[in-house]
Amino acid sequence: MSILLFLLGLIIGSFLNVCIYRIPEGISIVNPGSFCPKCKHQLSWLDNIPLVSYMLLKGRCRYCGAKISIQYPLVELLTGTIFLLFYIRFGISAEFILFASVSSLLIVALFIDLKYMLLPDVVIIPSIILSAIYGSIYGFPHNFIAAGIFTLMFYLLRVIFKDGLGIGDIELIFIFSLMLGFYGALLVVIISSLIGTIYGIYLIKKGRAGMRTKIPFGPFLIGAFLLVSSINIPAFYLLR
Ligand SMILES: [Zn+2]
Repeated sequence: MSILLFLLGLIIGSFLNVCIYRIPEGISIVNPGSFCPKCKHQLSWLDNIPLVSYMLLKGRCRYCGAKISIQYPLVELLTGTIFLLFYIRFGISAEFILFASVSSLLIVALFIDLKYMLLPDVVIIPSIILSAIYGSIYGFPHNFIAAGIFTLMFYLLRVIFKDGLGIGDIELIFIFSLMLGFYGALLVVIISSLIGTIYGIYLIKKGRAGMRTKIPFGPFLIGAFLLVSSINIPAFYLLR
């Protein structure tokens, strides 16, 4: 069963790649079928096997030889791994489905945010709805109280440090609190701030950023959420 869910994650990940590429371009995510972004050649199912095709083709398009971004196998592997870890944590359950769905949507948000510095509504709004459903079933009322606290805190930070946090970051912490409760959301904030700061210092040291360069915080928040929600520490989830 673990292997099946890992494979399911790989296939979903492959679809998420399509979403990451097409949503910002405004292309339908179902039509046309997969094509090479460079030469637009239609891809056959043989070019579309998650991970395997990338390795067999050595990361290049079969038709024009253009390099295929490492993002493709990375997203597939990430989604597969997360599905596997959720299965270990939840078994096959409504919790599994809700966590897998929200995480899939947020993986799309993560990679679009990295490229375009924006979090598209088409993935954020369904995530908010699903996390509210999750919070109502598994974390009522604690998770809603946590969501109130963190949303207010982020909003105040946004007002005090102008330009610091985006509206998208506030929407993200709202989603995370509903999914993880107070301590989970707190852990996400701590981990993402830590990694964000280290990354910021790294950029400054390399001379690629100044003290005022804007770095999108969304990808760090989402990365920390995926980490916190998929690692299996039973005692931690009993905290309210
Ligand atoms: Zn091509």
